[in-house]
Amino acid sequence: MTAASRLPARNGAGSVRPMRILISNDDGIRAAGIRALEAALQPLGDVWVIAPDREQSAASHSLSLYRPLRVDALDDRHFAVDGTPTDAVNLAINGIMKTKPDLVVSGINHGGNLGDDITYSGTVSAAMEGTLLGIPSIAMSLVTREGGDFSVAAEFAARLAVAVASGGLPRDTLLNVNVPARPAAELRGYVVTRQGKRRYGDAIVEHLDPRGRKYYWIGGDDLGFVPGEGTDCTAVAEGYISITPLHLDLTNHASLATVGAMQVR
Ligand code: MN
Repeated sequence: MTAASRLPARNGAGSVRPMRILISNDDGIRAAGIRALEAALQPLGDVWVIAPDREQSAASHSLSLYRPLRVDALDDRHFAVDGTPTDAVNLAINGIMKTKPDLVVSGINHGGNLGDDITYSGTVSAAMEGTLLGIPSIAMSLVTREGGDFSVAAEFAARLAVAVASGGLPRDTLLNVNVPARPAAELRGYVVTRQGKRRYGDAIVEHLDPRGRKYYWIGGDDLGFVPGEGTDCTAVAEGYISITPLHLDLTNHASLATVGAMQVR
């Protein structure tokens, strides 16, 4: 028996009907991560790349309402938007793509989006926008501080896209996926996780500009994470791909009674 024949059969692109896929990101349309993602998803169907024209990391879920947005059509499937990741996805779904996509995939981000990172993340927000507009959405991130090799994460994104296309996602739920920057052979598989807790530095850099005015630069050193069973941070540290289902309903349901019992006088 050859090694190949012992591998489990993959339900690859051939077994699914062609999908209409929207790809976006927060690192800009020229980033290496979005190119790797596009190459991996191309065999699955009709792929559109509509993304910010430049880096927009930590743009969070901001939508530009007070200025016009310009769209640069690079060809009939690639569009650069001079706005945030949320702008790009909103414009794509409500305007540029005449027919809505079946799936939104955001990334592959240059760097992890683990634990509290999620609240700042433009990558996750692009997927949130897809979810808000009723499209199953996935956020993909490669946990690395350098460039790194996006091929393993891209290949996993394609397999996950096939799974989501056939099984769908729960309502108002997106998948936040973080892939450790390791060769495929050193990955231990994937696990479904909950959102963990990061430790950030409080470094603010204070300097003077050339005109003698003070300016500040938020450092945000990465000081690791609070260990926790079943979290995204722990899974990635242990060499697993982490898939966290995120809910757009931010209500803390467990605390409704506590807050309800509070007396505001
Ligand atoms: Mn980014």
